[in-house]
Amino acid sequence: MRLVVTTAKGAVRVPFYCLHCNAERLATILATGYGRGRLGVARVDALEAVRDTASDALAFVRCPSCGERDESSVRSLVGSIQLKGALLGLSIPCLTLAAMMMKGHRLSALTIVILAAVGLSLGLFYFFDRRRLWTKAAATISFEESSLGSNETDG
Ligand SMILES: [Zn+2]
Repeated sequence: MRLVVTTAKGAVRVPFYCLHCNAERLATILATGYGRGRLGVARVDALEAVRDTASDALAFVRCPSCGERDESSVRSLVGSIQLKGALLGLSIPCLTLAAMMMKGHRLSALTIVILAAVGLSLGLFYFFDRRRLWTKAAATISFEESSLGSNETDG
């Protein structure tokens, strides 16, 4: 089975609602997403990840009407990627150590230090990569007046 990593890019339209001034807009965000797995599956995952990136990026965007943003959702998003990064950073060295011990390898202090360094850099990479995706996507945002109720046509 061949595993691939795919990147997808796309413009996603997401409703924006401001908690501070109740402004409603339709936001268009250019987002990137990654998918992993078998070909085909990875593609579908990547397209889903594009939508996820776009809706997460919305938390980083300032309201076009009052200039505020919802700091609590920024904090909870940043907290969630810190946690995922930490889990990823812990799981890889722990699984590798467990596998080595089961095979009867003797663990030297150096092995443990190397694995800890790998884990730390994986965790940090995950955190900064995700944050970069969000801030990059948030920078591409454009707003339209939400035309709820009104039905304007051109010409
Ligand atoms: Zn606002």
